[in-house]
Amino acid sequence: MILLPPAPHLCQECAVDHKPDEPHNAQSLYYQTKFRMEHGREATWSDALAHCNEMVRRHWLAELRKFGIPERLLGDAAPANYATAVTTAPSRKDGAR
Ligand SMILES: [Zn+2]
Repeated sequence: MILLPPAPHLCQECAVDHKPDEPHNAQSLYYQTKFRMEHGREATWSDALAHCNEMVRRHWLAELRKFGIPERLLGDAAPANYATAVTTAPSRKDGAR
């Protein structure tokens, strides 16, 4: 399967117009398709938030819960194991994502 890249002005991960430090759109068909091709599983909001700072991640997960998004779609960066995910995440200071 070949996935054509998004237009140059869009995020190359989710094909949505957002700033580099903002979350990818986990509901984007492009993001879900690309993620599944690369990782062999469905992307979660935790995946879409992985490149964001801790404050942004916590805020987004809390707001998504308020909207009743199921835990399976939020992923494994829930507060209980959040510290581990933060300390083991690779540095993204190069702005690659
Ligand atoms: Zn994106």
